[in-house]
Amino acid sequence: MAEFTPQASCADDADPNNLSVEQATQAINTLLRPIDSWQKVALRQSLGQVLQQDIVSPQQVPPYDNSAMDGYAFKSTDITASPFSLKQVGIAFAGKPYTGHVKAGECIRIMTGAKIPNDCDTVVMQEQVEVQAESITIHKAVVSGQNVRMAGEDIRINDIVLRAGRRIQPADLGLLASLGIGEVVVKRPLRVAFFSTGDELVSIGDTLADGQIYDSNRYTIYGMLTSLGVDVLDMGVIADDKQSLREALQTAAQEADVVITSGGVSVGDADYVKAMLDELGQVNFWKIAMRPGRPLAFGQIENALFFGLPGNPVSVMVTFYQFVQPALQRLAGDHAAAPIQIQVPCTNDIKKRAGRFEFQRGVLTKDENGQMTVSTTGQQGSGILRSMSSANCFILLEESCDGLSAGSLVNVQPFAGLV
Ligand code: AMP
Ligand code: MG
Repeated sequence: MAEFTPQASCADDADPNNLSVEQATQAINTLLRPIDSWQKVALRQSLGQVLQQDIVSPQQVPPYDNSAMDGYAFKSTDITASPFSLKQVGIAFAGKPYTGHVKAGECIRIMTGAKIPNDCDTVVMQEQVEVQAESITIHKAVVSGQNVRMAGEDIRINDIVLRAGRRIQPADLGLLASLGIGEVVVKRPLRVAFFSTGDELVSIGDTLADGQIYDSNRYTIYGMLTSLGVDVLDMGVIADDKQSLREALQTAAQEADVVITSGGVSVGDADYVKAMLDELGQVNFWKIAMRPGRPLAFGQIENALFFGLPGNPVSVMVTFYQFVQPALQRLAGDHAAAPIQIQVPCTNDIKKRAGRFEFQRGVLTKDENGQMTVSTTGQQGSGILRSMSSANCFILLEESCDGLSAGSLVNVQPFAGLV
C-alpha cells in the first residue's frame, strides 16, 4: 500500500513570504493621500465628519460669572465668623438677572446658572442657611468666591477648542453650540464602493437554492463603513466570472475613492480578483501572517484604492478593523489615536501554533473581585460570525505565541475603542 505523507500543515504558518501585520500596515500607509476637499455644513450634519480647520472660540464660556448652586449671593467682604446674617434684597434666576445693587450687609436669593450681580462674588448654598422673613443667617464657614463659576473658566476667547483632523463627537456638537457656532467646515466624506463576490451568494429577500448561502459580508462591511462616516455605494453581489468582475471593478473605481470587495482572493479555481487587478491596476497581493484573514489584496485601480478582503465572514471583519479602518481614517484626514490595548488575565487556556498573529474573539468582563478578565468566545473558525457578534474585544496573540494556560496575561483590544 502506498504510504500517505501528510502535508506539513504548520509549514504555511512559518511561510517566509508571509508579511507581518506591521509590514502590511506600513505598505498600505505609503499609498495613502488624505482627502483635500472640504465643505461647509450645518452643525448637526458635522456629526461623524472630520474638521478641516481648527475651531477658535469667538467667545468665552461661561459668558458671565454665574452661580453653581441654588442659594444666596453676596460680597466676600461681608464674611465674618459664623453665624452671621444678611438682609435679602432681591432674587436672580437663570436667564433673569438681578439688576439692582447689593450693598454691604445684603444678599440676594440666587438660582443655579443665574448671573452673579457685579456687587457679589460668593454664593452660599441654601442648605447651609437659616431663612427669616427678610434676612438669612449663615451657620457654616464661608470661603470667599465659593460656588461661583467664573466667566471663561471653561473656554476663553481665541482658545483652540477643537483641532483640524478631529472627528466630531456628540460632545463636540454641544461644545460648538455653546459657542454659538452653527456651521462647520469639514472634509468631504470619503466615497467607498463595495461588493461581494461569489456564485454561492444570495441577497436577503431571495430564497436559497441548494449550495447557496446568504451574503453577510456586505452587511458587516456596510455597518463598519457607516460607523466611519463615509458615503457608501453598495454594488451587491458579483458572480465569480471575469467579465462581471472587470465591469464591477471599473465602475466602482470610477465612482469611489476606495473600493472594497470580499471573497475570491484565495487560490481556488474561481478566485479571479487578483487576476482582474493585475489587468486593471496595480496590485499587491499578500499573504499576511495573521489568523483569521491571511489573503489580502491591496492596490490601486485608476484613482481608487482597492482592498480585496478574504471571503470568510470573520476574516472580513478582522482585516477591515486592522487594515481598512485605519487607512480610511487617514484618507479622511481623521487624526484618530490608535485603538487602545489593555492587558488582562485570560480565564481559559488558549490553543495556538507559533507563526501567525492571531486575533481571537473575546469577552471582557469584571469578575466578582472587580478585576477585569477576558475569555475567548469559544470556537474561533474564520467562518463563525457569532464569535464576532458575541465578542466585545479582540485577544491579540503574537506570532511567536504557541498557546497559553488559563490565568496568563493577554493583550486585549476592546471593540469600544475600535469602532
Ligand atoms: P472565498 O474567499 O471566496 O473562497 O470565500 C471563503 C469562504 O467565505 C467561503 O466559504 C465563502 O462561501 C464564504 N463567503 C465568501 N463571501 C461571503 C459573503 N459575502 N457572505 C458570507 N460568506 C461568504
Ligand atoms: Mg468565493
